Amino acid sequence: MSTYPQTRTESRVGWSFTFNDALFEPLFVALTLIGIGVDLLLGRVGAAPAAQLSVHLITYFVGGFYAVRAIIAALRERTIKVDLLMILAAMGAAYVDAWTEGAILLFLFSLSNVLQNYAMDRTRRAISALLELRPDTVTVRRDEALIELPVEEVVPGDVVALRPGDRVPLDGTILRGSGNFDESALTGESMPVQKGEGMLVLAGTLNQSGALDVLVTKPASESTLARIIGMVSDAQARKARTQSFLDRFEQWYALGVIGAVALFIAFVPALFHVPFAQNFYNGMVLLTVASPCALVISVPAALLSAIANAARHGVLFKGGAHLEELSRIKVIAFDKTGTLTHAHPEVTDVLPRPGVTADELLAAVARAEMQSEHPIARSLMAYAEAQGVVVQEPEQFEAVTGMGVRATWDGEETLIGAPRLFSHLGVALPNEMQAEFDRLGDEGRGTVLLARRGTTWLGVVTVMDRERADAAEKLTLLRKAGIERIVMLTGDNARVADALGRRLGIDEVHAGLLPEDKLRIVGELGRKYGPTAMVGDGINDAPALAAASSSIAMGAAGTDAALETADIVLMRDDLGAIAYAVGLSKRTQRIVWQNIVFALAVVVVLVVLTLTIGVPLPLGVVGHEGSTILVVLNGLRLLAHRG
Ligand code: ADP
Ligand code: MG
Repeated sequence: MSTYPQTRTESRVGWSFTFNDALFEPLFVALTLIGIGVDLLLGRVGAAPAAQLSVHLITYFVGGFYAVRAIIAALRERTIKVDLLMILAAMGAAYVDAWTEGAILLFLFSLSNVLQNYAMDRTRRAISALLELRPDTVTVRRDEALIELPVEEVVPGDVVALRPGDRVPLDGTILRGSGNFDESALTGESMPVQKGEGMLVLAGTLNQSGALDVLVTKPASESTLARIIGMVSDAQARKARTQSFLDRFEQWYALGVIGAVALFIAFVPALFHVPFAQNFYNGMVLLTVASPCALVISVPAALLSAIANAARHGVLFKGGAHLEELSRIKVIAFDKTGTLTHAHPEVTDVLPRPGVTADELLAAVARAEMQSEHPIARSLMAYAEAQGVVVQEPEQFEAVTGMGVRATWDGEETLIGAPRLFSHLGVALPNEMQAEFDRLGDEGRGTVLLARRGTTWLGVVTVMDRERADAAEKLTLLRKAGIERIVMLTGDNARVADALGRRLGIDEVHAGLLPEDKLRIVGELGRKYGPTAMVGDGINDAPALAAASSSIAMGAAGTDAALETADIVLMRDDLGAIAYAVGLSKRTQRIVWQNIVFALAVVVVLVVLTLTIGVPLPLGVVGHEGSTILVVLNGLRLLAHRG
């Protein structure tokens, strides 16, 4: 059977001429049916044997052409396709002069292949629809003039003019103007987003209103859209464990069936006194009904549909294996910032020391944080700019993960971070700073950050990351989807973390963690409660993500790191997408197993019937092909899955 979506391209390898398969394959199926009709007619009128034979041969040719081509291509790569069993059975039928039955076999078999190809094409088209989101030509401003360029020729630094209704052709930042962007194609989020100067827009999103100029930041081949497409097609090619197992199984099984049928044909007539021709015919029925076509396609039909469905909802599975893993997850650990809370904490207090102005404090903080990717840093920068502070580049910058930042300019080092940043660097905390830290902490002002430049303590800023309004509700959905334990991991202080944990009804809160602690705890959770998923923003959680059975990166549209680090990437900044992904993975696993059990059961029943009461070849073929089609259709249901 055409078991794998690449079959058609594979089978073209080595042929100097190419047909339009999409046209010829169904045509050949129809011709096979006509051949069978003509054959029956000739039989009825008692036509000359030569005429009958030529009709038989033509019917066999059109019925078997595509299967034989696929088998030869597979043999060149030293693999056996189960299709071989069907072709052997048809040849065997011809040998015992059961041409018509052999032709019916070829007809049903090739019809089922066409239907399967059509079905599998649908899942692949769901992906290539993404490709069509990118316009082919772009209007670019060059030397004061507007010119049309193919998208591949636009380089970073070019300025693209976007009109209302245009799709964004390349990733970039808005130079002039503002507008509403429909990002649903990338993120699955249907609400348009308002964007203004300086903000990032992504290729494939739709500019609904406003004329704007966009500064291109990435070439076409590196846009977020291009990478999503690359990732999803890789994911479809990468096989899940069940599927690799079935692929190997296919080889041995096919050889096993051929061997068993050969023994059956050789020994049964002598042992049980059955006429040779009748027994040979039964052998051909056995070849047909025992071939595991339905089994082989049972897994890819389901996984490809699920991956395509997920991509449309802004959830990227980087392979079928990750669907399998996610379906087994018992525990989900969240990195607090950016997942349970918004990725943009609010600045709540700016408290300079005596002799320092608020602007001086903010300018130093923003300059030191400028190159940090941490959500805290981005919020501080945005806040300082909103206060009219002009932020400059530092000369040197280093992020001390889970603690804070250190940056140098004009010969002096600036440190911004939690108290442990200072103890880590051997800087003693003066009593008044410690007192300030404790007081703000007690008042629940959020995350308290201390700032020091050279040997001068500049003051304190506090940032509060607010929980997402729907966090509690979305965590309930996770529990409904079968997650038994929800855990929060954070480098923030325990007071902030515990309060949030209580409000959201989280089972376990671990605060004050360094990245290596997060990694250790993820491992412990796995040993204690079973398979654990880690949800992070993918920026500073890479080690913990790597330690989890399933790693999920959130809000990845526009951040490169997040796209790379995790097994499962949520383009949208929405906790609900996790419950959707868990639900989808469980349903996929259920359908995979339904398919496997059903396919095996049909084989067993048909084999037993053939060996006991006997089954006519056409009936065996109907049972066999019917089960294959049912399995594919069952998998396709996942294309329509709603979260
Ligand atoms: P989370 O677990 O919330 O993702 P992190 O492990 O990233 O937190 O950081 C832990 C703590 O380290 C923060 O709460 C903050 O006090 C400090 N910190 C981390 N990065 C920075 C930064 N760029 N600027 C200031 N403080 C930081
Ligand atoms: Mg974090």
